[in-house]
Amino acid sequence: MNANLLQTPIDYLKGVGPNRAELLRKELGIHTYQDLINFFPNRYIDKTRFYKINELQQNTAEVQVVGKIINIKTVDQKRGSRMVAEFIDDSGKMELVWFRGQKWIRENIKINTPYVIFGKTNWFNGMFNMPHPEMELLEEHQKNLRTAMQPVYPSTEKLTKAGITNRVINKLMQQLFIETGGRFYDTLSKDIKEELKLISRAEAMFNIHFPKSQELLARAQFRLKFEELFYIQLQLLIKNMIHKQKIKGFVFEQVGENFGEFYQEHLPFELTGAQKRVVKEIRSDLGSGAQMNRLLQGDVGSGKTIVALMSMLIALDNGFQACLMAPTEILSVQHYNGLVELCKELKTSIYLLTGSSKTSKRREIHEKLENGEINILIGTHALLEDKVKFKNLGLAIIDEQHRFGVAQRSKLWQKNHLPPHILVMTATPIPRTLAMSLYGDLDVSVIDELPPGRQEIKTVHRYDSNRLKVFKFIRDEIQKGRQIYIVYPLIQESATMDYKDLMDGYESIAREFPMPEYQISIVHGQMKPTDKEFEMQRFVKGETQIMVATTVIEVGVNVPNASVMIIESAERFGLSQLHQLRGRVGRGAEQSYCILMTSHKLSSDAKTRLETMVSTSDGFEIAEVDLKLRGPGDLMGTQQSGVLNLKIADIVQDNQILKSARFYAKKLLAEDPEMKLPENKMIGYTFEQLGVHKNIWNYIS
Ligand code: ADP
Ligand code: MG
Repeated sequence: MNANLLQTPIDYLKGVGPNRAELLRKELGIHTYQDLINFFPNRYIDKTRFYKINELQQNTAEVQVVGKIINIKTVDQKRGSRMVAEFIDDSGKMELVWFRGQKWIRENIKINTPYVIFGKTNWFNGMFNMPHPEMELLEEHQKNLRTAMQPVYPSTEKLTKAGITNRVINKLMQQLFIETGGRFYDTLSKDIKEELKLISRAEAMFNIHFPKSQELLARAQFRLKFEELFYIQLQLLIKNMIHKQKIKGFVFEQVGENFGEFYQEHLPFELTGAQKRVVKEIRSDLGSGAQMNRLLQGDVGSGKTIVALMSMLIALDNGFQACLMAPTEILSVQHYNGLVELCKELKTSIYLLTGSSKTSKRREIHEKLENGEINILIGTHALLEDKVKFKNLGLAIIDEQHRFGVAQRSKLWQKNHLPPHILVMTATPIPRTLAMSLYGDLDVSVIDELPPGRQEIKTVHRYDSNRLKVFKFIRDEIQKGRQIYIVYPLIQESATMDYKDLMDGYESIAREFPMPEYQISIVHGQMKPTDKEFEMQRFVKGETQIMVATTVIEVGVNVPNASVMIIESAERFGLSQLHQLRGRVGRGAEQSYCILMTSHKLSSDAKTRLETMVSTSDGFEIAEVDLKLRGPGDLMGTQQSGVLNLKIADIVQDNQILKSARFYAKKLLAEDPEMKLPENKMIGYTFEQLGVHKNIWNYIS
């Protein structure tokens, strides 16, 4: 079909006047015929199926049942009355309920006569009931046989008020199929369609709006989901390809003095197999001539820091500078101390720059950075300031990437005439499906192995009512020389209230663990960085046994002697946060514990989160559960949720289709990257159209 016809403004469709057109544009984003065609129902009412009463499920949305009323009575209630009918079939009994229109019901409803009823059911008093059912005599029903499933389109209040009901949308859709003849050109190659047994696009479009059967609906959905995911993958892969071809990077040819000496003589431990593999991947990127854009995923404690250091040493060996950016002051300081220690035998100059660096120090850093005296700069967002200019930045590493936005990433790029190589490290494992959709254009390395000798952290869930036992446990552990974290939630919107929780908690802990026998540190977001650092250091040095804190300690803090993590109001934390917090312990040789404290009131999601934490410590498994509970948009934050604004596919539920779409997109690009072969022409054309009309989001910078 003529593609231009589909670009016709929606105003021209018969049945759409200027008012309706305006509403369709504003409320549903429908500007053209094409947009309307791509406006998919979000559910279907299946009037092809009849349920028996004993088959009803508590969650069944809308159902159709055949049976008869055996009696009707009026029941008085607080305000007015309701009418209740007993309705039976050969499998059981349910009730029909009316709150309005009782006179009409009484005068028109026939007792002991077969009816088809349709509506939503509720479970009440040990029985199903259906309020205000649609009813039709079975005899009538059989005369006007309805075979089709009825689509239900998403709607808005404004649309409903303006009379654009589901029926109207249905009519418009029919009109659209009439005007266009329903002949939509195909957008996938014959090969793909044959291998996956896909129905044609025209057939899929027809059946998504007017399903002829359950089976055809399923096939239509499959085909359209595949298509949507296929084009997203194609975009991501092409972006990656162009990136590799066009964006030249510094070539780090040699592995020299720094790397060599460190690797031969100063490695504090043997690298795990996973660390070795990842270092190799990075080395090969750095030598390839293209700019590296790599995501390094590795669970808390998997040993990303040493990989970061070795990558930076390669940059140094080739005459370049490197920087490492972390999201918090505490973490930057810790990285700085750790790396200085690791490099103490090397001739590298490492500096720290954070928001609280003194002016004189800043000046020194700015100067030495520009004349190349500094090899490695570590710090917070302060690194992004315009004044910070490198002589020749070759590699930028970003730790805990989910806290930095894309804009900040690209700011690092602008610090050079050529973009530096970029490595982003995250300890929040991103489920594979999500990584494929969001970061399909990044290369991904995974450290999926923990250093040897780590003990599993014992995780338990305790109710607040058991607090005394928990206190006793803390006392025993301190007796053994261990240190304890106690963490309170801090959620931005209610910062003052949470702050109070923290202070109340601190006071009760201080009462329970009095000085001078016990020493307690406290760290929270409203403290000055220097005070925070002071308190942290007391804990690091072992001067205090208990650290009371908010989630500011979530990221990176490393105190191997701390072996107990107590999380207060654990039901208020998300899974990835719980996992991060737990990762603060289990860093030394001792058996470590994580205790999740909650009240008795728990939502079912909260229960799932707690059960997940107790049953597994595998970050990827936890991430998958998190994705299922929260949905992708929420998981990645609003910033990136636009990416997941899919029309029909769901990257969690359709992850098999996603994998297959990625496979075929890769295959196509390997065989015919320009999409010029006759059989792939349609794909190339469609891809171009997507670019022009921006139907698929254009999100990663
Ligand atoms: P993360 O991936 O969370 O940043 P770190 O790099 O901080 O992990 O490493 C956690 C701890 O494990 C550190 O104390 C580090 O020295 C240690 N470590 C890292 N790799 C190894 C290894 N291969 N063998 C033994 N210990 C290691
Ligand atoms: Mg780390």
